[in-house]
Order: sequence, then structure tokens, then C-alpha cells
Amino acid sequence: MNLDARLKELGLDANAQLRSATPHFKIREVFHSDTAEAKGIYNVPDASKLTIVLFNAERLAENVLEPLRNAFGVCKVSSWYRSEALNATIPGASATSSHMTGEAADVLFNALPGARIQEAFLWFLRPSAPKMDQVILERRGEHTVWLHLGCGSKMRGQLLLSPRGGGYFPFTGNQWQIDELMEGIG
Ligand SMILES: [Zn+2]
Repeated sequence: MNLDARLKELGLDANAQLRSATPHFKIREVFHSDTAEAKGIYNVPDASKLTIVLFNAERLAENVLEPLRNAFGVCKVSSWYRSEALNATIPGASATSSHMTGEAADVLFNALPGARIQEAFLWFLRPSAPKMDQVILERRGEHTVWLHLGCGSKMRGQLLLSPRGGGYFPFTGNQWQIDELMEGIG
């Protein structure tokens, strides 16, 4: 059974907007995962957890993703909700990841040059930026950079960098930290 059919069983329309204030984010995007599909992992919470996951996802979409999209243009969510089974397959993922409650999403800026991704990261330093738990500029491999965006029950206000070698380091406001992470990305 595909994702849309599973959501329908739970009374959800995959094509519906999360909230009226989030015209660019649909219910399907919360649960879709290329990895889950490739590995045949069921990535929809059971009914008892569904309401809170959707509530968390709606809050993230309205407070963070929609404003970010308005500022920077099309962004693709590559990973949002993760079931325990899916989270367990992600190398380096925390066993208490905020993805498991729908409170975090990873956002790729397709076709955005590296400079714009940096700009999007630094956008969260503005006094008027949405309040956040964690914003992480993450790099894996030669070409992949994304922003991990989390807000919800924990609100630690952390800006972190995760270079391709792994680990998480506080961003202390020094441009060289970003330059080092982004080295070789156009
Ligand atoms: Zn993430």
C-alpha cells in the first residue's frame, strides 16, 4: 500500500495543506521519505501518536518553513517525521531525534548556490527570526548540504554546524566555521 493510501486509512488527505497558513506544505511531505520507500519501511505513526505528530509538524511548517520559503524560494523537505524503524536506519541519528515527533525537518535548497544556503542559516540569527530549538547546517559527502530545523517542546536556541566528518559544533559567529564546512560547494 502506498503512502497516500495509508494516510487515507487514517482519515487524512495526503494532498491537503497542513494548515491554511502553510500553502506550500502538504500532509504527504511530513511522512514521505525516499529512504523509507526504498527500504519498505512503514513511516506513518499509529493513530495514538498521529495527532501530536501532525500538531508538531503544523507548528514547524507555519512558524519556520513557510517564512523560510517566502524568504528563499522553493525548498524541499528531504526528511521530516521518522518512525523508530526509519530513524534506526539513519547513520548517526539520535535515538531521541526530534524527527521522531515531527518537530524537526531537514530542508534542501535545490538549485540554490552555496552562498544562499549560508544566508538561510544566518537568517536565523536575526532578532525577528522564528524561535528555534536547533538549526543545524549539515554537510555529508561532496555535494550535500541541508538545514536541520527543529522547534517544539524543547527550545534550546542552538545554532550548530555538522561538517562532513560528523559531530556537532556550536556556531560562534565566525565566518571561517561556515567557510570550512562549505569548502568545495559552489
Ligand atoms: Zn535532521
